[in-house]
Amino acid sequence: LVGSEMCIRDSIGVLVELSNKNIDKKFIYSVPNDLEKNIKLGIRVEVPFGYQRLEGFVISFEEEPEMETKSIISIIDEDIILNKELLKLGKIMQEETLSTLISCYQVMLPKALKASRKSSVSKKYDIFYELVKIPEKTTKKQDEIIELFKMRKIIPKKELQKISASSLKTLEANNTLREIKKEHYRVALLEEREEKKPLTVDQEKVVNEFRNSSDKVYLLHGVTGSGKTEVYMELIEDCIKENKTCIVLVPEISLTPQTISRFSKRFGSRIALLHSALSDGERYDEWRRINRGEVDIVIGARSALFAPLKNLGLIVIDEQHSESYKQDDSNPRYDAINMAIKRVELNKGAKVILGSATPTLDAYARALKNIYHLLNLPKRVNKKPLPEVTLVDMNQEFKRSEGHFSLLLLNKIKEKLSKEEQVILLLNRRGYSSFVTCKNCGYTVKCPHCDITLTYHKSSNNLRCHYCGYATNITNICPECHEKSLTTLGVGTEKIEEELHTLIPAAKILRMDFDTTSKKGSHAKMIEEFKEHKYDILLGTQIVAKGLDFENVTLVGVVNADTSLNIPNFRSSEQTFSLLSQVAGRSGRSSKTGEVIIQTYNPTHYAIECVKNHDYLDFFNKEMNIRRRLNYPPYYYVTYIRVSGKDDKICYKESLKIARILQKYLDKTIILGPSPCNVFKINNTFRYGITLKYKKQDNLKEILNRIIDVYKSNRLIVIDLNFNPIVFG
Ligand code: ADP
Ligand code: ZN
Repeated sequence: LVGSEMCIRDSIGVLVELSNKNIDKKFIYSVPNDLEKNIKLGIRVEVPFGYQRLEGFVISFEEEPEMETKSIISIIDEDIILNKELLKLGKIMQEETLSTLISCYQVMLPKALKASRKSSVSKKYDIFYELVKIPEKTTKKQDEIIELFKMRKIIPKKELQKISASSLKTLEANNTLREIKKEHYRVALLEEREEKKPLTVDQEKVVNEFRNSSDKVYLLHGVTGSGKTEVYMELIEDCIKENKTCIVLVPEISLTPQTISRFSKRFGSRIALLHSALSDGERYDEWRRINRGEVDIVIGARSALFAPLKNLGLIVIDEQHSESYKQDDSNPRYDAINMAIKRVELNKGAKVILGSATPTLDAYARALKNIYHLLNLPKRVNKKPLPEVTLVDMNQEFKRSEGHFSLLLLNKIKEKLSKEEQVILLLNRRGYSSFVTCKNCGYTVKCPHCDITLTYHKSSNNLRCHYCGYATNITNICPECHEKSLTTLGVGTEKIEEELHTLIPAAKILRMDFDTTSKKGSHAKMIEEFKEHKYDILLGTQIVAKGLDFENVTLVGVVNADTSLNIPNFRSSEQTFSLLSQVAGRSGRSSKTGEVIIQTYNPTHYAIECVKNHDYLDFFNKEMNIRRRLNYPPYYYVTYIRVSGKDDKICYKESLKIARILQKYLDKTIILGPSPCNVFKINNTFRYGITLKYKKQDNLKEILNRIIDVYKSNRLIVIDLNFNPIVFG
């Protein structure tokens, strides 16, 4: 048997790390005798490729060594970095997204393991010393050091250096002390632990229903504050008792210190965290802990789904409605919920639980059809009703209001502050930004490389393009009509903060948006300080809507509810309903009753009305009707094909050709376009889109694959496919 294995190993299939459709396939290499024993599936090797040396993954053992195969140069990894399960999952992702296989594997791994991003991440070590022998002659300082080892076996270098660095050196040189290196993990979890809470009757019911079912996929629909997290933790505990492992996915912005501390207080140090605030090094540390089996639970944003856990029992996807679960703007454009379901299918007995107060229409429709097993938590844990929501019609209020604040909202804020309670204010920034326009001729300042209005940034006092990063200084002279009449329109959190300062000078305001939280750790600090009531008002963008649990917050105000309704996307109502319901859910989470005030220009819009009534089902039914009439998901699948290139004419001509081919072969599909993308030009690249809508089209992927194949060597245009896109563009 050993012999035959050896024989198989002297020839392997390698997928090289270049994301190019032409070479996205297995190449056969032979393995020199001295390396054979270290060859495993899922490690990286260095291979000769044309005139280059490339890194690649070992993806197969070949039975018949081919004639004249080149031999690999070296082996890169000792440990397997893509285990068999992940190798399979990558293939599935490739079939789902039609992206390159190599990009599917790369998206699963931390940056530090990617050839294309050779970063110089190294393992970090803490250095300790242990006592080997006691020398005959010592100095006073040396004695002091040796003395310490009576109590402890090993002592950190830093501590000993403090006594005397030179004595330490001497003791090491004469072999009194020996250095020990211990790998240092860069992320520290809290040590503090907390007893678990007894479950409520509703929670207990949900947990038991889950335990007693053998279904694979569950949708937990629980209103805000209904105790979903507590349910997840109970199910995770079940899993760990069976020696199985778990993944918890949360949206990046709710990966707050609050969420993390709840899990770490319950489960201690056998948790790994994967989120974007980690440096490449920290990420790599966490990943290696997981790969070595030192961890039972992985908590992280989207890509944590690919954590190399063994014996997976459960995947929790919290805030299931979050768009962050779809990788929408780069290949592979995969859907983490979809891939989670595929991953549990590879693990016997494993399950997925999706949770939300506002499930996506897709998910809820599936639950109603029993494709997902529906679980309900209809009430808040504190037995309080959901906070009362008052709508302020800004069409009426406009004349009376102070700046962006209606009298009602302003007075309520003052009332809460006088009672020493706290307030969260949401500025809905979606589809909204401040820009510069000419009062005289109507000119708006656009990016010279992209077809998009530049955004005004107050802190740096310049205009920036959010697509390509172009920045320009601001003047008040219009480049079109040369009048001194440029002015900023729109409003950012900074402006609102200023206004509030004027209106309520005594209020202590904490502004939280992506600008103020980008510094590492600042987000955590802000949350802590707000909790300690160092501030009265937390003002922010979407970032304040999710995952936060402050018991003293009794008022949530929404400054501008409607901006997200105006986005040209069929999901705009769903996104608005979901965002407003989520932020409303931050109010009145403990014993104090909460209130919500929403300022809107569309008080009769069904999405806004349903938020007021806390009526998910009503919203679901109304929105489903619209989707059915317009042939949108979940009634139809939608796929977006983007054709882009530097030459507008060629780009358009080729996209027309592609649309014609699709028309010819996809007989059951509605084909729209080609038409220019919402943002037609980015970085001097022109973009056209073709939208496909279909219920069932068996040859879809076959035809799309053929198109990809035809164009894979074409350097003038790039084709990107997006199945079930969030953004069309
Ligand atoms: P959700 O995730 O549904 O918004 P959470 O899990 O955050 O709800 O729970 C809301 C609040 O209720 C939290 O402060 C949580 O600690 C508390 N809570 C949850 N379950 C229980 C329980 N069984 N007993 C007491 N308090 C609970
Ligand atoms: Zn630009």
